[in-house]
Formats: sequence, C-alpha cells, structure tokens
Amino acid sequence: MKNDCIFCAIADGEIPCFKVYEDDAVLAYLDINPFAEGHTLVIPKAHFTGLLDAPDEILAGLLARVKRIAAHLKATLPCDGFNILQNNGAAAGQTVPHIHFHIVPRRGNAEGGIAFASTKGDMDALAKLAERIRMA
Ligand code: AMP
Ligand code: ZN
Repeated sequence: MKNDCIFCAIADGEIPCFKVYEDDAVLAYLDINPFAEGHTLVIPKAHFTGLLDAPDEILAGLLARVKRIAAHLKATLPCDGFNILQNNGAAAGQTVPHIHFHIVPRRGNAEGGIAFASTKGDMDALAKLAERIRMA
C-alpha cells in the first residue's frame, strides 16, 4: 500500500471492492458496513483527506458524480430518497481519512432522519452566534 490509505489501495485495485461506478477520476463502491441496502461510497481516485484540503475542481467533479450515482441508485435499487453524508475529522465520525461521500438509500417514511438529536434554539443566543461567525 503506497501511503497506508485503504481507499487509495481500493482505487489502485490492490484491495477489492464491490464496484458501482468508475471513471478516470472517481470510484464508487458499496460500503461493507451498510446503513441500508445500496449504501455507496464515492471517492476521488486522488488522495485528499477531506473537504478542506480537496481542491474545488476535484470537489465539483466529485459532487456531479455523486448526483449521477444517486439518481441511478434511486431508479435501479429502487429507493424513495437518500441521505448524502460526508464526515470531516474524527470528531465528526470520519474513520477513513480519504475524502468520501456516503449515499445512503432510504425507504418509506424515515422517523427523525439521520441520528442527530435536535435542541430547542435560543433566539438571542442564535442571533449573537450568527453575528460572531458571519463571514465578511
Ligand atoms: P467514515 O466514517 O465517513 O470515515 O466512513 C468510512 C466508511 O468506510 C465506513 O462506513 C466503513 O464501513 C467503510 N469502509 C471501510 N473499509 C471499507 C472497505 N474496504 N470497503 C468498503 N467500505 C469500507
Ligand atoms: Zn487515500
């Protein structure tokens, strides 16, 4: 393995995968621990850790492929909807430090969407926070 990255090894064909899509720049394959049937990972073949170090051109191409693959999965699985997940950093649950988008097919009426517990927002605190973090 050239850089100890399991997703680079999959992109290089050194480790097998259940391939769903491939072109020059992008590979998509089934997640081996699926959240749902058809859970697919979409990666650039080039190594970047996450959203912040991947160049904009790579991200634009990647997201266009995510859209095409998601449309294909929705039609062929089929499924009723899907979540797109993209984790950045261990604190966000990223376990493989090679950028990837999860496409998670959903069926029927999901209760609660993905598993974040929402809290009741304090309007004054939200206003102060937006003021503090607003981009120039
Ligand atoms: P994340 O938590 O966003 O880093 O997601 C990494 C995902 O990669 C997990 O859902 C794993 O189940 C999945 N995964 C790890 N190794 C492999 C592999 N060899 N083939 C397919 N999926 C994998
Ligand atoms: Zn990699």
